[in-house]
Amino acid sequence: MNEDCNFYICSTCFATSEEPRECHGEMMIHCGSFAPGDERLKPLMDSEGNLITSAPRWYLEKAKLQQGYGRDYFRHT
Ligand SMILES: [Zn+2]
Repeated sequence: MNEDCNFYICSTCFATSEEPRECHGEMMIHCGSFAPGDERLKPLMDSEGNLITSAPRWYLEKAKLQQGYGRDYFRHT
């Protein structure tokens, strides 16, 4: 039994798919499985614990790579 929760997500509308496909003119982002408690699963916070974005860290990393923005989020930490 394969327990990996690999899936794909659209960076524009957050639609998910179990198969790689195109959405909003771009390939959906691949999301591999993460260990429970993985830092990347948590929302990003600044040094005072304020929520910067509700999007999980892995998503921001993927979105940054794919779309070239999001770098500013990481300057705060
Ligand atoms: Zn979409």
